[in-house]
Amino acid sequence: MKTISIKKFSSLVLAFILVSVFLLFYDFYLKEKHITETLIQTNLQTAALNLNEFLRKNFDPAHIGTITSQLDSRLVSNKTLSSIEIVNEQNKIIYSSLDYTKGRSDQNRTCMPITQIMQSKLDTTPCYQFAIEHFEGLVGHDYKIILGIDLQYIYKILTQEAQQILEVALFFTFILFLILYFSLHNYIIKPLEALRNYAYYSEYSPKEFIIKEFESIRYSLEMTFKRLKTEQENLYNLSTKDPLTQLYNRNDLQSQIKRIIASSKRSHKKFAIIFLDLDNFKNINDSLGHHFGDIVLKRIANYLRNAIRENDVPARIGGDEFLVVLPDTENEHSVIEVLNRIQHHIAAPILIQKERYNITVSMGVAIYPKDGKDFNTLLKHADIAMYNAKALGKNNYQFFTDQLNKSVQEKIKMQTLLATALEKGYFELFYQPKVDINTNTITGCEALIRLVDPQEGIIAPDRFIPIVEENGMIIAIGEWIIKEACEQIQKWQTTPLKNIKLSINVSGVQLEERNFLEMLEENLSCIESAKLDIELTESVLIREFDEKIKLLHEMKKLGITLSLDDFGTGYSSLSYLRDIPFDTLKIDKSFIDTMQENRAFINMIIGISQDLKLEVVAEGVETQQQLEFLKEMQCEIYQGYLCSKPLPAHQFEERFRECNHIS
Ligand code: C2E
Ligand code: CA
Ligand code: CA
Repeated sequence: MKTISIKKFSSLVLAFILVSVFLLFYDFYLKEKHITETLIQTNLQTAALNLNEFLRKNFDPAHIGTITSQLDSRLVSNKTLSSIEIVNEQNKIIYSSLDYTKGRSDQNRTCMPITQIMQSKLDTTPCYQFAIEHFEGLVGHDYKIILGIDLQYIYKILTQEAQQILEVALFFTFILFLILYFSLHNYIIKPLEALRNYAYYSEYSPKEFIIKEFESIRYSLEMTFKRLKTEQENLYNLSTKDPLTQLYNRNDLQSQIKRIIASSKRSHKKFAIIFLDLDNFKNINDSLGHHFGDIVLKRIANYLRNAIRENDVPARIGGDEFLVVLPDTENEHSVIEVLNRIQHHIAAPILIQKERYNITVSMGVAIYPKDGKDFNTLLKHADIAMYNAKALGKNNYQFFTDQLNKSVQEKIKMQTLLATALEKGYFELFYQPKVDINTNTITGCEALIRLVDPQEGIIAPDRFIPIVEENGMIIAIGEWIIKEACEQIQKWQTTPLKNIKLSINVSGVQLEERNFLEMLEENLSCIESAKLDIELTESVLIREFDEKIKLLHEMKKLGITLSLDDFGTGYSSLSYLRDIPFDTLKIDKSFIDTMQENRAFINMIIGISQDLKLEVVAEGVETQQQLEFLKEMQCEIYQGYLCSKPLPAHQFEERFRECNHIS
């Protein structure tokens, strides 16, 4: 439907009202005119009747002079009459109030009979007539009485009235127009337009209106907008703010960072993002409950706000993970200042139920554009730096570096490779000979694991053992190693290597697995268990010492032997040797490398080992000179590149035949 503006609409209504008012006035004028005309007509009719009466009594054509003064006075007293004439049967004017017409014949003159005056048009009929009869003796003569009408006068009366009515009409209509226009404009059009603007832009609420309905619409609109605004604010806060801490959430942080990136791009300025993760927050949450966990997070958020500048952007992006963006970072020093301030603020103890809790935080920093040009990269790199801070003992901060990135990438690559390595058969055991120093023959070997990547080739255990120990995969891999080693021992039973002793390395994580002992026992079932030796480092004893000792005794009961690996690198407490049923002690390569300086120490270890009836293996022997030294010190067994690197099974077998002179 076609719409029309209120302005146009009210103009039309106004015009309609004005035209109607004007027509009313016109109608009024016509009626007034008619009344005036009727009055004049009646007046003329009465005048004619009176004149008729007067003439009937007093008219005598022979003595016309006796009535002229009477006739004149009648003419003067009636302003509508301009003349009175009396015409005889010969059409001759025998009397005329107009002197110049007297005596003239009046043949052409036809006037309207006075009896028809009411039907005549007053302003266009110049004269009326009536007849009288006069008897001279018995003969009657007709005379015509002609009444001339003062048309000018009548016109004047009628137009004067019209003018007056018109003036009043115009004045009245004008005043009406003003009143209507003013009222419409001020009380309807203006409020409606104000309401329309208010409804459209919802910006400025109009002043109160006089008209009740408009006022109630204005009031309802105001209330609706207020409610909408608070709802909008709530929604905005919900979508951009973390409800617990009132810091920005991840979503909004992302758009904030995009904005900062755009402005930094233009101004060629750097900015830093700090990734914060509370240390041991899980403990607080677990021990105190989530309610107090929330209190801690809120407190930390406040500390964070206090530690940063006004235009820095603080956000909470996960459970106990926070992020701060520092726009316009000049150099690392300015970032370090902020990092120190954050650490300082967060160090303030938090009091919960009269208990003081000290929270520490690990932080990682990434700097735009050096460490990333987009939100995700920067976040990922700050996260990597933060993990490094955690790995370095927590409660510190680290900057992202390319080196760090490489090692993380390597770790990720390793993890993906390891995820399927076992099922794809990428692991292989290599065997390094243990050589009897006196006879120079191979008496045992150590199984050392290798990861064979189809692309990269052989990967040494240093690159993946720490990863699988961390993610628990060592359990499955360790089981595979034991199984593989036992199978190898079994295979050798029909070969010249049947007497060889095979050592495997077992990590602390494996020992903590509940069913380790059963698993070991199961694998040992098909071999002579004395052929298997298990190498352990001191580090396995760090946790749950007593239980570990018990376990080691249980293991020993299965018939295997135990070696203390890397002796000299850890605590190297000799008391272990008394408490734990070790059979062999392996002196670490680092001592062999610096044999000259450590001569006394090695001598002592060998001495004590002999007393305790322990076999001593020297690790990492690379030179003949080292071998001579060991021989002198009465060390019985060595392991090292001097004899052989760790080798795949068949190569090891060849080496065995070679050394032990078996053809
Ligand atoms: P480890 O048990 O001390 O093993 C001895 C390491 O010294 C082996 O390194 C061996 O190749 C190396 N080595 C032996 N003789 C020499 C030498 O003359 N010169 C030099 N430079 N190195 C020599 P590998 O095979 O890289 O193993 C490194 C470590 O990885 C092992 O140290 C052990 O802690 C761990 N590992 C290896 N295989 C296994 C395994 O099957 N299970 C577990 N849990 N850990 C293993
Ligand atoms: Ca070892
Ligand atoms: Ca070792």
